Amino acid sequence: MSNHIHGKKIEKKLKFTTVLSSKKIWIRRINLAELILLGSGTGIPSLRRGSPGILIVSDSTLLLIDIGPGTLRKILEVGFTFRDPDLILFTHLHPDHTADLVPILFACKYGDFPREKDLLCMGGTGFKSFFEALKKLYGPWIEPQSYHLKVQEVSKETFFYRHLKIQSKPMAHISGSVGYRIEWMDGKSIAISGDTDYCQNIIDLGFEVDLLVLESSFPDSKKVEGHLTPSLAGRIAMESHCKKLLLTHFYPICDHFDILNQCGQIYQGEIVVGEDLMRIKI
Ligand SMILES: [Zn+2]
Ligand SMILES: [Zn+2]
Repeated sequence: MSNHIHGKKIEKKLKFTTVLSSKKIWIRRINLAELILLGSGTGIPSLRRGSPGILIVSDSTLLLIDIGPGTLRKILEVGFTFRDPDLILFTHLHPDHTADLVPILFACKYGDFPREKDLLCMGGTGFKSFFEALKKLYGPWIEPQSYHLKVQEVSKETFFYRHLKIQSKPMAHISGSVGYRIEWMDGKSIAISGDTDYCQNIIDLGFEVDLLVLESSFPDSKKVEGHLTPSLAGRIAMESHCKKLLLTHFYPICDHFDILNQCGQIYQGEIVVGEDLMRIKI
């Protein structure tokens, strides 16, 4: 009897795996480049909004930008796994943007099938010493054996990763914060601020991009230094001439305000107020 029940359980599990893998194939075939907002919140636990994490699916390349706590589970929800990302770009070292780094390295090592493909992790100045400190703390538990891990620092530079041109610039948040602009060969482009206050660098990164992803931490009446409000995000969008604006990184208080209206007073283009698991084609 117990065997029978056990058998049923296995059958169910197999079915689920099949659904996940077919979904994965579908995503890769239909959408050549897509941004999936894994978490639209902050470090404050929220049932509505997960911590920062963005997944970009571009042909067979998977790119993550920030992996706050809970991001690895969100990746499963959109049909991928922690083994799939090729490149992780970190905007800064605050825990709401980096907390899943240790869990992803641990899972890649001790999962049912250890990771085999290379992983590149990049972050601003200080990222290397941050990573060395984690290695000291966790030792062999996070040191890769079955794959190659490369850790690199960026500041103000332009580099290529496979078919993508990536540009980074310092942001006005904490020391070592960077924003990114990603361009495709066919001219498509996106820019991502991470956490920042108003600054020229994010306007430069976002110049005429197809999609500008900006943080919008607090409503206009509750401005906090080092973060944007909806109207400041609107100003950056307007000044960068981006084609579409996606707002994210909402502290819980934002859900009591009309964020779209506050931003729309300044920026006349298309504004998307982010929600978890939202998908935007690029
Ligand atoms: Zn943050
Ligand atoms: Zn931060």
